[in-house]
This record gives sequence, C-alpha cells and structure tokens, in this order.
Amino acid sequence: MKKLEKIIERIVDYKYETIRIKGHSINPDDFTIIAGPCTIENRESLEEIALHLNSIGINFMRGGAYKLRTSPQDFAGLGSIAFDWLGTISEKYNLVTVSEITDSSHLDEMMEKVDILLVGTRNMLNYPLLTQIGKSGKPVILKRGMSSTVEEWLLASEYILSEGNSRLIYCERGIRTFDSITRNTYDISAIPLLRKYIPFPIIGDPSHATGLRELIKPVSLATVAAGASGLLIEAHPTPELVKVDSRQTIDLKTLTEINQLSGEIKKILY
Ligand code: PEP
Ligand code: MN
Repeated sequence: MKKLEKIIERIVDYKYETIRIKGHSINPDDFTIIAGPCTIENRESLEEIALHLNSIGINFMRGGAYKLRTSPQDFAGLGSIAFDWLGTISEKYNLVTVSEITDSSHLDEMMEKVDILLVGTRNMLNYPLLTQIGKSGKPVILKRGMSSTVEEWLLASEYILSEGNSRLIYCERGIRTFDSITRNTYDISAIPLLRKYIPFPIIGDPSHATGLRELIKPVSLATVAAGASGLLIEAHPTPELVKVDSRQTIDLKTLTEINQLSGEIKKILY
C-alpha cells in the first residue's frame, strides 16, 4: 500500500479536467452510459442504435473501427469508413463518440473524427502510444490491462497525465484468473477503490468482464452500486447476428432497462 499511496498522491495532483463535448460532460460523481456495437459493421444498424440511444437519453456511443483480434483470421473492423459513419450519425443525434485506438498511426485521423479515444486492454502497456495520447490532449478512456495490477494501471495512466492530458477516465474490464466460465473475472473492488482515492471518473465494462449477455444487467447494476461513474456496454438491435463479441452483446430493450435502473440505484445510493 505504501507504494500505491505515493502513486495516488501524484495522480491526485494532476486534477481531472472535465470532459465536455457537444454539450455533454463526464464527471466522477455523475453517471454516464456509453453504449453501442463492439465493432461497426454497417451504417444502418449504427443509425438504429444512435436513434435508440438518443430516445432514452444516452448521449455517448461506442463503436469499433479498428479491432485487435486474438486470431488474425477474425474480422478486424472496417477502418476509416466506420469513422465516417460514426461521425455523420453522431452529428445527427448529437452523440459523443468513443472508439478504440489500436495504433499511433491512426491518431491524426481519430483526432478529427472521434470524440473520445479508447485504449483497450492490450494497449495499456503500450507506453509510447500512451505518451502520444498524452501529448495530443484528446479525452481518453484507459482500460485496465488484462493481467495488470491496479498499481500498474495507475502507473500506465501517468504516461498520459504527465504529458499534460488530464481528460482521463479509467475503465475496469476484468482481469484474467483461473476461471474460464466467464471471459474474465470482474474486479469490482477496483471501482470503489479508485472512487475513494482517485478524483477521476472510473467506469465499468460488464461486457468484456463477463463475456455473457445474461450477466450484463446484474453486473451493470452492481457496478452502479459500487460507485462507478458510468458503464461501457456493447449493445445492438440484433446481438445474435453481430460478427464480434456477439455472446456478450445485449439487445436495446435490456439496455433501456439498465439505463432506467441504474438511474434509480444512483439516486438512492449516491
Ligand atoms: C473494446 O471495448 O472494444 C475492447 C476491445 O475491449 P478490451 O480491450 O477490454 O478487450
Ligand atoms: Mn468487444
């Protein structure tokens, strides 16, 4: 804990700079849901999701364009064209967009076309990329590495913060343990831990944490109860048909329920 205390002291000094885009903001004490497809596959389904988010008051949409797939044989996203759809559709519905940056060569394009960068679990240890994101000043969500301790995660975040970028959100997405019945083991304790000590938003990703759509609603609600600043959820009108992460993707009705219930829990507890 001694070493952790020192890191926390430094991070507290950086001070969170509120992410404010298109009239929407993210704050540690508020609750923000970011939802959408794992990977953007076509314009029509992205628009259907955007319309739905807008109708239930969710202002943040996720959508992958470049994906890091474990197997090189798997579908890895549509690249640039997906950013263009994300851009035009989000303008139409006044949504803030979130997409994963997998390589620093995409940074220039994403500075222009995406509102918030997502650093996935595989890139938490890519320190040159984190440094570049720090220099860019672009709002960023930093996921926890799948085999990283909280301490390592906080140290990784310092690569961004120390470059002067404090528009940073932490995202717990589960870590690897011996159990394989779920995709990962959700370290829910990281949520109240960061909430207590770190004055930056901390959100949870029940989709990658569990890998199972029937677990997303209860785990989402537990995340709210644990004191999270928000959720990152994979949702789609036809979850069974998506090419990437289908098994963990929820339908839009379940997303509506989570949105409503999390608001109620938040009101009671915080
Ligand atoms: C994602 O959120 O799209 C993603 C790839 O998640 P992770 O990096 O947590 O596996
Ligand atoms: Mn995914």
